[in-house]
Amino acid sequence: MPSQFVHRPARAGLLISICALGLLSAGGWHRIHGQSKSSNSGMTGFTPSETQHEVSAEAELRRLASSAQIGKYHRYLTAEPHPAGSKRNNELAQWVAQQWKDQGLEDVVIHEYDVLNSYPREISLEMVKPKNYKALLKEGPYDVDPDTKNPQVSGSYFGYSASGDVTAPLVYAHSGNPEDYDLLRQKGITVKGKIVLVRYSNPYSYRGFKALTAEREGAAGILIYSDPAEDGYKQGKVFPEGPWGPETHIQRGAITYDFLEPGDPLTPGWASVPDAKRIPASEAKSLPKIMGLPLSWHDARPLLENIGGPEAPESWQGGLPFKYHLGGGSEEVHLKIAMQTPIEPYYVVEARIEGSEFPDQWIILGNHRDAWVYGGVDPSSGTASMLELTRDLGDMLKRHIRPRRTLVFCDWDGEEYALTGSTEWGEQFADNLKAKAVAYLNVDSSASGPNFHGTPVASLAPLLVDTSKSLPAPSGVTLYQEWQRSRQKDSGTPEAPPDSELADTRIGSGSDHTVFLNFLGIPTMGLQFDGPYGVYHSMYDDYYWTNHFGDPGYRYHTLMTELWGSVAMRLANADVLPYDFAFYADDIRQFVQELDRNSQVSSHLDLALLYKRIDEFQTQGTKLKAEIQTLMDANRPIAGSKQINDALMQVERNWCNPDGIPGRPWFKHTLYAARYTYAHLELPGLTEAAEAGNWTEAEMQKQILEKELQKNTELLRRTRDELQAAQK
Ligand SMILES: [Zn+2]
Repeated sequence: MPSQFVHRPARAGLLISICALGLLSAGGWHRIHGQSKSSNSGMTGFTPSETQHEVSAEAELRRLASSAQIGKYHRYLTAEPHPAGSKRNNELAQWVAQQWKDQGLEDVVIHEYDVLNSYPREISLEMVKPKNYKALLKEGPYDVDPDTKNPQVSGSYFGYSASGDVTAPLVYAHSGNPEDYDLLRQKGITVKGKIVLVRYSNPYSYRGFKALTAEREGAAGILIYSDPAEDGYKQGKVFPEGPWGPETHIQRGAITYDFLEPGDPLTPGWASVPDAKRIPASEAKSLPKIMGLPLSWHDARPLLENIGGPEAPESWQGGLPFKYHLGGGSEEVHLKIAMQTPIEPYYVVEARIEGSEFPDQWIILGNHRDAWVYGGVDPSSGTASMLELTRDLGDMLKRHIRPRRTLVFCDWDGEEYALTGSTEWGEQFADNLKAKAVAYLNVDSSASGPNFHGTPVASLAPLLVDTSKSLPAPSGVTLYQEWQRSRQKDSGTPEAPPDSELADTRIGSGSDHTVFLNFLGIPTMGLQFDGPYGVYHSMYDDYYWTNHFGDPGYRYHTLMTELWGSVAMRLANADVLPYDFAFYADDIRQFVQELDRNSQVSSHLDLALLYKRIDEFQTQGTKLKAEIQTLMDANRPIAGSKQINDALMQVERNWCNPDGIPGRPWFKHTLYAARYTYAHLELPGLTEAAEAGNWTEAEMQKQILEKELQKNTELLRRTRDELQAAQK
């Protein structure tokens, strides 16, 4: 689902890492405080001799990874439109399952979830005053790209829009954020019973939040259009000459309120297996009650040109060559939306490579299959990278190169609607996952350009940085060096950021990692290469776009296969799971400091104990790491590592509060959640209480964090004791 995410500013430089550049350098995550480990002894969590095995297994993966094969997978996946619930998408589920069987993967299974689907029966939009204009609601064809002429391509619609038929005044409400409506009110313009015209935002803000905000304002409908200032000609050349969105491109999408409760709207918190109980749609918190429709600027232009009333403020003006006005005059539109909402099957395909030594410790890799149209980038780039990874690992398996832990591969369905397939699967297998999952590695769009973005939970950030050092990138340097350059460009700083700042450990929502992190407490990592990409969720996000702009030659798709596989293999083969809890503690401390700065928490609450608990957790994390490293350096595999690792896997689970965060009980994680815009939100319970000035609730949320930290400090202390005992 997501494409254009805000990347946080560089973290304050608490840590400095001085790693040797170059291929295959491992280890070396130095700290300026606490104990540092000796470097270059081996990969984190591996003895030197195990490191040699791992290095050759990863080299074998790189040898096998074929960009030509990825191109073939990609052509097949993008041949026809395949939204969730469509015949083609269901056929692709069968096809993926067959690929995995042919590749030699194990336990290939297709899970069926019967969920509320949503697609259009009849949609029309017409301006009736002061001028008549009937909206096209279609995207235009181009001769150079035959896929743009396929009659199967849908017109404009939003998944889970309400149905209705209304003629009402039209108001321009900028990005449709709450402060935009405040400004309209100041100008004497209300939107109650009216239709609001808003635009997509840059930086990205989830369209469902715009819908909820308009619904709360009492609007009768919301039209969301793509302004050329955001993703069209103001940014650069447009399709088919360039990567940006052309005049008729439409950003489809769902407007589900999945920031309240993701997954099938009728089975919140439990799996929508065929015989599941369902709530009535009227009780579903995640279903919008407002009509919504996305527009191209081709269709928005006649509306905007004919909206009268006061001139919109300068910051509300857009890329079209005239002044935008707010409305409040006599302009009127007729919006008719008739949606069909049957219960229909979605299919999640799952396959495994069972671990040779620890089959009950799972590394899960997932990518969604459903696309709004062809999904050239979103998600077929990711699916193609995944199919190549499984082909390569299947090949290695035939030559008896098997990981020590189990790899689980998931091809999700209905991600675009409400993160549906992954959520239902996570809810169905919750107990097993809480006991067995080491990590979930998510890719959604693998490559729309060369700029790497990694979004791991903090405990996995050092692993990602280390792995990036071992991978050659298309430009001839390492992925690590490319990553440094692109982060440096993002932040506009004169020097490359230190290793501790490369990964973006602020994790919002908007993709299939959500159920793993926020509901189950499983460490997650998101991986993506991006670039200029103005065709998100439109028909033009297709094979042609990928081959001309996004990733000609599939070089970054291939690098994704190598990266995703290498991270998975390190997690699968390490003697001790390479979580870094001392690093995690740094992040948590920084979250508290930032919140205190932004919401003046310390003038209302005493934060001393919270900081003390963070310090204690960090101390134990540092000691444990040093202990493990000493054993690894001495080339001593850890006795009883199954138990040790089972314990370490529980740290992330322990950040979860069974009651969830206030007001959103499905979201259990107390360090990470997402705002309604999908933007990252750290310490969600404490932050939202502090922002609301509810200091009683904030105090309670702070105490929850203190207890969790204490529990995890104890867990690490106990684990270290067991480790020492086991070595005697
Ligand atoms: Zn996606």
